[in-house]
Amino acid sequence: MGNGTGGARSAYDRRRDSDALRGWRERQYARQARSQAWLLDRASRGTGRVAYDRLGELPRTARCGWPLGGIAGIRVRGGRAFVTGAEHCASPWSCPLCTPVIRAQRARDVRQAIEYWRAGAGHGIGFLTLTIPHTPHDPLRAMIDLVSGAWSRMRGGQAWRAWARHAGIMHYIRSMEITWSPTGGWHCHLHVLLLLDRDFDPDRMRGDIHAMWATAVRTVDPDRRPRRNDAA
Ligand SMILES: [Zn+2]
Repeated sequence: MGNGTGGARSAYDRRRDSDALRGWRERQYARQARSQAWLLDRASRGTGRVAYDRLGELPRTARCGWPLGGIAGIRVRGGRAFVTGAEHCASPWSCPLCTPVIRAQRARDVRQAIEYWRAGAGHGIGFLTLTIPHTPHDPLRAMIDLVSGAWSRMRGGQAWRAWARHAGIMHYIRSMEITWSPTGGWHCHLHVLLLLDRDFDPDRMRGDIHAMWATAVRTVDPDRRPRRNDAA
């Protein structure tokens, strides 16, 4: 990318970017070391020792960056250094090194899909966020099952199918996002990008979407009642 004057980026800019990237990498490596220490601690039941022949049973995230087959090296290509022969866990959720890379790639894919879809004559795009009420005591596993279950429920229902026909939904891209806070606990929610074959404004149907989502959530868990703003 240029610097706005059409010329090459200055050595100063390149140096600053490379320092920022190095700082970011150092922080991510520190986080990885911390998370791997926790995982090892749990696998070893606090002893800090895991038998050699049981290392393969560790979660992949705990082994991320370990040498494959015991041989790792550093290679230089085009003036840049690469670590070779190391295993990557490729976790889209919990690895400080792999997750940001995978997320960035997915974000690029989604941007490309939006641009491609927008270029089509008369096409529309809608964006939904679906959440559920939760407390700090709700376990993550239950929250994931509840959100995915309610989504399947809603999408399989008559009301959604009729609405999808009316709005002209041709495709959708769904992504689950999970955040955590000490006061709210696990906040597991869905972002849904709707690709429509007409220029339809999903704002007009907020009430309908909310009603469908609330019904789906109640079907999966009768004690949980989504609030008014749980579908936005
Ligand atoms: Zn990883």
